[in-house]
Amino acid sequence: MCGVLGIFSTEPVVARMYAGLLTLQHRGQDSAGILTYDGRFHEKKGNGLVRDIFDEHNISRLQGAVGLGHTRYPTVGAGSGEDAQPFWVNRPYGIAAAHNGNVVNFFELKKELFEKSHKIINSNCDVEVILNVFAEGLERSSRREVTAESVFSAIRHVYKRVKGAYSVVIYIADKGMVAFRDPYGVRPLLFGCDRRQMLPDYGFASESVTLDLLGFGEIRDVPPGSAIFIDANRAVHEARLQAAPFKPCIFEYIYFARPDSYLNKINVYQARVDLGRTLARTIQKSGLPIDVVVPVPDSSRPAAIEIARLLKLKYREGLVKNRYIGRTFIMPGDSVRRRTIRQKLNPIVDVFQGQRVLIVDDSIVRGNTSRSIIQMVRQSGARSVYFVSYSAPLTYPCVYGIDMQTRSEFIASGAGPEEIAARIGADRVIYQDRRDMERAVRRQNPAIRSFCTACFSGEYPTGDVSRVYLEQIEQEREELRRRQKELALKF
Ligand code: AMP
Repeated sequence: MCGVLGIFSTEPVVARMYAGLLTLQHRGQDSAGILTYDGRFHEKKGNGLVRDIFDEHNISRLQGAVGLGHTRYPTVGAGSGEDAQPFWVNRPYGIAAAHNGNVVNFFELKKELFEKSHKIINSNCDVEVILNVFAEGLERSSRREVTAESVFSAIRHVYKRVKGAYSVVIYIADKGMVAFRDPYGVRPLLFGCDRRQMLPDYGFASESVTLDLLGFGEIRDVPPGSAIFIDANRAVHEARLQAAPFKPCIFEYIYFARPDSYLNKINVYQARVDLGRTLARTIQKSGLPIDVVVPVPDSSRPAAIEIARLLKLKYREGLVKNRYIGRTFIMPGDSVRRRTIRQKLNPIVDVFQGQRVLIVDDSIVRGNTSRSIIQMVRQSGARSVYFVSYSAPLTYPCVYGIDMQTRSEFIASGAGPEEIAARIGADRVIYQDRRDMERAVRRQNPAIRSFCTACFSGEYPTGDVSRVYLEQIEQEREELRRRQKELALKF
């Protein structure tokens, strides 16, 4: 999972790029980068958080009225400074790119680009492959000049060769900025326009909140399989380049995106309220005796409030989150991760004392978080602990840009709610039904016929995810975890 940002302005952009990346920090905390252009490319990329990478010195260097930015969360591979985006090439023009998603045929393309075109893909970052394929397409289509049609033709070339999910923003030096989404529109991408100056500024971002906070208006989604090109004269060209069933990622609404964002005309906060509403019905049917509803902060709060409201139950914030601790999910090694969960979430004992507690979370992945939470809630004196997930059981790895586990690591892999309850120490586990989950998220935009639910169903919409590929990424992830465990032992 990553966040991407592109601004095409007439004024220096770096301050807005920095502010914009801060709004995308939740989408990736591994590395970040900004590239600007003022006749040459200036770039600063690094590992860590946006606020730690950029300082007065490198910000002052990032001159220019055009910028691309990125926050990265490694999906496959350990992630390193060399993989930080944006990337750029110098042929047939200066072209820079950043993206969100994951290229399924990355290794084949890397090999092919080297063998057939003598191009070295120097990182493990898949945008480098997209960029080189795009450049190859543009070289063919723009022999004389770069036009909207030649840019669209280069994107068609990308669609033909690059498999997987990708939302891309590209800047072609002095020619214009173009953004496009893969044909299935798995990952989000939004477009906005700021008309406060004489000449309008244009922006592209992974979430609407970024454009909104930067002062862009007329915010809308880049449609799936489509591209929007702003040429050097600031004219906007848009085209649908490839048709396929629209399959936006449902996990964006469940966990990843900010609640104040609108993605594909669905507000994330409202989607979580709706997920709470459908889950409340299932909880009611279970007939569980509940005294208090407690959310696992922050993502599950809107759903938990709705559950408590509908079931007329007491709602309490019984778990307090320390915001200054990094994401537990990406900590190396299970023991380190478990310790960190305890430091990250602390119970308010009085909320739980003698109570029958319903804990609401967005998802259960490995079960480490839920197990630790249940343990601390019991230690706080709870009589019973019920654990509910407003998403369905996660059982398949995501190959489209979300760091998900190998099949064997999912606690729900081959186990039903009863066994899961026993493993995490709950008196009962209730999951949202998959169809209810889809129905709830779709409610705000019924024009979306279905979502990418691959991590729940194993149905990979792009149709190019072979068993061999799944086994390969599982091996890579297992190898990565082995290395992380070794690291944790030294920790
Ligand atoms: P666990 O069951 O301990 O593996 O972690 C589950 C928690 O991690 C969930 O409650 C989510 O809040 C969070 N989570 C789910 N998916 C991801 C992900 N891909 N990356 C980071 N955190 C996640």
